Amino acid sequence: MSAPHPQSPSLDQPRPRRARPKAPAAAPASPELKAKALEIHKRLCAVYDCPIPYFHSLDPVSELVSSLLSHRTKNADSGRAFKALHARFPDWEDMLEAPVAEIEAAIHGVRWPELKAPRIQEILREVKVRRGELSLDFLGEMPVEEARLWLQEISGVGPKTSAAVLSFSVLRMPALPVDSHHHRVAQRLGLIGPSIDVGPSHPILRAQLPADWSAQKLYDNHEILMLHGQKVCFHRRPACARCTLNDICPSAFEA
Ligand code: SF4
Repeated sequence: MSAPHPQSPSLDQPRPRRARPKAPAAAPASPELKAKALEIHKRLCAVYDCPIPYFHSLDPVSELVSSLLSHRTKNADSGRAFKALHARFPDWEDMLEAPVAEIEAAIHGVRWPELKAPRIQEILREVKVRRGELSLDFLGEMPVEEARLWLQEISGVGPKTSAAVLSFSVLRMPALPVDSHHHRVAQRLGLIGPSIDVGPSHPILRAQLPADWSAQKLYDNHEILMLHGQKVCFHRRPACARCTLNDICPSAFEA
């Protein structure tokens, strides 16, 4: 077995629990915004053919690694990096005490590998310290918001990553991730204000959708808004003329 990392805390004992932060409060959505969000969902589902198949069937720890790699990185590049990292460390436990340079080399195709390599290692160490094992399966027994907050107590895990772990992994929990495409489209459509950043947009956009929606429907909502951002509502020169939402979009032909 490799020697303990000189700067890491003991991985054997669960760390005493910190006070859990409260869920970010989102103002209740107005009936108009709720109706608009549903109309957008209905139209985009017709275009992108809901239900959308899940693109991953990873355990939640693997999904956490995958999600951390994907930050500001193209899906193809982060997918390649994930495969290379998992090939190097088939058991994530072996990564906990590995030289950071080895992790960085495996993920060199992502953006900021020199930052992501130590961060991923530290985050997985934190999971092990807090749980006594490197597993996040227990999150499936918790209410969604509580599970998200548990993850977000870890430095470096934000709202998008926590939602992705719960939604995209085999846990298949009803959480709504918001990526940069999703965020841009929602902003242009007027679902969120121009000064709302990606992180704070999570509870606002979730509150506009029915509370009892299934994991699949929330996943569909994220995917169709993301796909719309990738295929029609481009960052530069959105294709408003062929957008199914151009009659209800305040930014149509102006973005
Ligand atoms: S009308 Fe244009 S700006 Fe509005 S959502 Fe469609 S593509 Fe985006």
